[in-house]
Amino acid sequence: MRQAKRILVTGGAGFLGSFLCERLLQEKHEVICVDNFFTGRRGNVAHLLDDKSFEIIRHDITFPLYVEVDEIYNLACPASPVHYQFDPVQTTKTSVHGAINMLGLAKRVGARILQASTSEVYGDPEIHPQPEGYWGKVNPIGPRSCYDEGKRCAETLFFDYWRQHSLRIKVARIFNTYGPRMQADDGRVVSNFIVQALQNKPITVYGNGEQTRSFCYVDDLIGGLVGLMGTKDEVTGPINLGNPVEFTMLELANLVIELTGSRSKIKFLPLPADDPRQRRPDIGLATRELGWKPKVQLREGLARTVAHFEDRLSLCASQSVAAE
Ligand code: NAD
Ligand code: UDP
Ligand code: UDP
Repeated sequence: MRQAKRILVTGGAGFLGSFLCERLLQEKHEVICVDNFFTGRRGNVAHLLDDKSFEIIRHDITFPLYVEVDEIYNLACPASPVHYQFDPVQTTKTSVHGAINMLGLAKRVGARILQASTSEVYGDPEIHPQPEGYWGKVNPIGPRSCYDEGKRCAETLFFDYWRQHSLRIKVARIFNTYGPRMQADDGRVVSNFIVQALQNKPITVYGNGEQTRSFCYVDDLIGGLVGLMGTKDEVTGPINLGNPVEFTMLELANLVIELTGSRSKIKFLPLPADDPRQRRPDIGLATRELGWKPKVQLREGLARTVAHFEDRLSLCASQSVAAE
């Protein structure tokens, strides 16, 4: 086990952030969770509030933050297209101003800092699967650009602080990750399909459903992030973290229908602008540098996620009955 540290997790009340806070507390670290609750919820970390090693601060990272920490995981940023396109200017500010503030903080206190970057830096890729050396095919002026270009600029800032100020940086390029604690109205495909299936509502497949994604279960991903933070200083990344098994959205829809025993039918809707056609990580570097490989198969991870949403939806139903 590593020595106990004081660790800042930005976006700590979000989906990935809440699992990361939990994992770091289990490893006996002190955790400061910073979140503006745009897409995150206190409920995601409610079970951690009694832990004296856990602290939560409502704060928007586009503004400066002064805390004393040994490590920073910079996760703050809405990740669902629906949410990051809601206020695109704020999304870019979060990635760019947020990165500058967190890098400035890391510089002042000498902390290690990890950036939650994304497979979106590859855009609609012409190389498949995507290795870290591929520079991507990204539209700089489309509806996804606030997220894609914001994250690309954040990577640039990380590497410039590394070159210019010798900061100890780690950049993880995270591919589609799913699991419990995604919000029912998050808008991403896994939560959408599961909620629709559990309610026997139409499963909304965008386009013809032949586009692909590779889905990583949250526990695997968190292991990769913590592993990357623990590497020696020479390991900066960028490093892909994701599950290399690829599925079409139609395959995903059918698997969700099967696992939920749903009566839902598939409904085809228009494909959103600039939706990448295919995405699969080359995880050779993560395997070599971190000895990391995802363990949870999609079928198993989906079953756990379905169980979470069943609980959540039945709780909501009983609360609305009680309120009537
Ligand atoms: P999420 O939306 O659940 O979590 C993001 C968190 O950041 C939320 O709690 C939100 O309230 C907070 N936040 C947003 N803007 C903020 C700001 N300005 N100041 C402070 N807090 C702010 O999303 P997630 O899936 O947990 O993603 C976490 C990180 O991982 C994001 O940076 C995302 O880009 C990255 N990522 C996630 C995935 C994935 O599939 N889950 C894939 C690639 C990259
Ligand atoms: N910053 C912060 N917390 C700190 C130190 C810096 O939020 O503990 C922010 C501050 O807003 C600053 C930015 O980080 O503008 C970048 O800091 P840096 O030292 O790189 O540059 P500066 O703008 O101070 O010259
Ligand atoms: N998608 C879909 N139905 C939905 C939500 C998403 O078919 O209800 C598709 C979407 O068009 C994309 C894929 O699923 O091709 C993954 O979408 P998501 O928003 O989860 O993530 P991203 O596009 O950022 O990979």
